Amino acid sequence: MKAPAFEYIKPRTIDHVFALLAEYGDEARLLAGGQTLMATLNMRLSEPAVVIDITGIDALRGIALSADGSMLRIGALVTHSEIEASALVAAHTPLLTMAVPHVAHRAIRNLGTWGGSIAYADPAAEWPACALALDAVVLVRGKGGERRIAAADFFLDLYTTALAEGEIVTACEIPARQSNQRFAFDELARRHGDYAIVGLAVAARLIEGRLADTRLAYLGIGTTPVRARKTEQFLDGQAPQVTVLLKAAQILATEFSGEAAPLGDLTNSAATKRHLATVLLQRTLANLAA
Ligand SMILES: Cc1cc2nc3c(=O)[nH]c(=O)nc-3n(C[C@H](O)[C@H](O)[C@H](O)COP(=O)(O)OP(=O)(O)OC[C@H]3O[C@@H](n4cnc5c(N)ncnc54)[C@H](O)[C@@H]3O)c2cc1C
Repeated sequence: MKAPAFEYIKPRTIDHVFALLAEYGDEARLLAGGQTLMATLNMRLSEPAVVIDITGIDALRGIALSADGSMLRIGALVTHSEIEASALVAAHTPLLTMAVPHVAHRAIRNLGTWGGSIAYADPAAEWPACALALDAVVLVRGKGGERRIAAADFFLDLYTTALAEGEIVTACEIPARQSNQRFAFDELARRHGDYAIVGLAVAARLIEGRLADTRLAYLGIGTTPVRARKTEQFLDGQAPQVTVLLKAAQILATEFSGEAAPLGDLTNSAATKRHLATVLLQRTLANLAA
């Protein structure tokens, strides 16, 4: 199918974007990499009157380390491939370097953007789960100025975020890796490049061989990325040995039962996803310890 007719505008300043959003409201859609939006337009799942192409806004580009080295800033228009190739990302937020080969295919990674993925908030996408695991802050701006929203407060429901009307994602700030921090990422998908059935982003400290500040952020489990907080609590203070990982998998299976059970989809039941989540837990923690 072809997209319905729409007006196309490519502003050169962020203030022009805000003016257009104020003018057209819900009739407008932002276009970044277009790797999700163009499909929804072509399938007529979305029929905006105006498409606002934000790729001409240079202020939304770039990856930069803060002057004191404590924070990496990733602009909304940074593509998945730029993240993949970035030495700054590899050095300071290596979890993203581990996760990026799982994001779609090369052609999509060349166009799709960090900000588009964060704003779209697909619960099976890699970047929202990584943002949660890394305790990232999402920077959003509207006519009224900038707001800083913790990733934990940003992803509210299925494809629903804390972005208010007229606001856009401008960047994320991610705490730079500390020397005792370790990361791991893995996911299970039917074919490489497909959206994951289940995935897991892990960040933890290893202090004298024991885990601390463990953060387990799952994708493909719920309507948003999901932290497994009870399992995290169990793991903190433990050495990541086989017996501990087996016990952690049991705790996770209990945690992901009842109300917190994964949402099944057309091809995978909640029970399958729960099982895959325990498999990923053991794999990623073994990798993290190694
Ligand atoms: C075949 C295929 C496979 C894919 N597989 C994966 C995968 O495995 N993992 C994965 O994570 N993604 C996957 N994707 C999606 C891809 O990563 C997209 O690039 C991403 O979800 C959206 O980024 P975009 O820049 O293309 O956004 P666009 O398509 O341009 O926009 C997506 C939505 O976000 C809004 N938006 C964009 N930028 C902003 C902003 N700065 N502020 C506010 N709103 C904004 C748009 O208005 C739109 O509603 C896949 C896509 C395809 C076509």
